[in-house]
Amino acid sequence: MKTAIITGTGMSGVFTASQTMGLPIFNSEPKNTTTPYGSIRYHIVSTGSRSFILVDRHYCTVPYRFPHMIDHRAYMYMLYKSGVEHIFATTAVGGVNWGAFQGKKVGSLVMPDDLVDLTAGVYTFADEGFVHPTAFYRSAKGLLCPQMQSLITDEAVLRGGVLTCIIGPGYETPAELAFYCNSIPGLSLLGMTVAGEARLAREMAAHYLPIGIVADLPLEDSSVDGEGVERAVKHAQVQVVKAILTAMGQLEGGQPSWNCDCQKKPAVFKCLE
Ligand SMILES: [Zn+2]
Repeated sequence: MKTAIITGTGMSGVFTASQTMGLPIFNSEPKNTTTPYGSIRYHIVSTGSRSFILVDRHYCTVPYRFPHMIDHRAYMYMLYKSGVEHIFATTAVGGVNWGAFQGKKVGSLVMPDDLVDLTAGVYTFADEGFVHPTAFYRSAKGLLCPQMQSLITDEAVLRGGVLTCIIGPGYETPAELAFYCNSIPGLSLLGMTVAGEARLAREMAAHYLPIGIVADLPLEDSSVDGEGVERAVKHAQVQVVKAILTAMGQLEGGQPSWNCDCQKKPAVFKCLE
């Protein structure tokens, strides 16, 4: 299996009730496996001749995990062992209309170019079980794959800017938001989960594309809560799935010769063999 979708807040049910939403009919087969980081639940989803792995980052290790409690290694390791090379991810984000990156509304889809990680998380497979003197030191250029971005043809999907990851689950204070805006050039989105997945994708030598679903606009309205975020994502879920399915269709003829940085080094696990 070469392709996967990682979903987050507000996306549950779209691949099971989709025939009523203007999406194709999906066949979804539940799977379980164990990894060095614990057991994982996921689905093999197929529609027509297309199939992919579907992982819900918050529920794949049951019970629900908050962003700061997710061990991204568990499902990313499963994706690596399954042979996945192309990863699409949906993520609920705050949209920051700041500087050159204006125009976001609640429900907008945005593909950022880069990220700043303020979570202080340690996102690597390197530990006592996986040791190598050089393999884990690798470039962080183009972590959010520009070639995967080019597969998204929906012109309504906004492009560019920097996604800043905060630890959560509480949202940023007004003072923190002002600090981010004034100190992070190109700030466009605030999220909680992309940094961990992006770093591990690079260690897996996988192409990784997060698509942010704008669930609130903290500069315009600071009254966001969990229910509002879930509602906003549900409104956008069909559009984001359609955009990803179209992109997947372009991958079916085989990967073109890409010049991104994602596979310039082999997966760290290959270096350990
Ligand atoms: Zn790439």
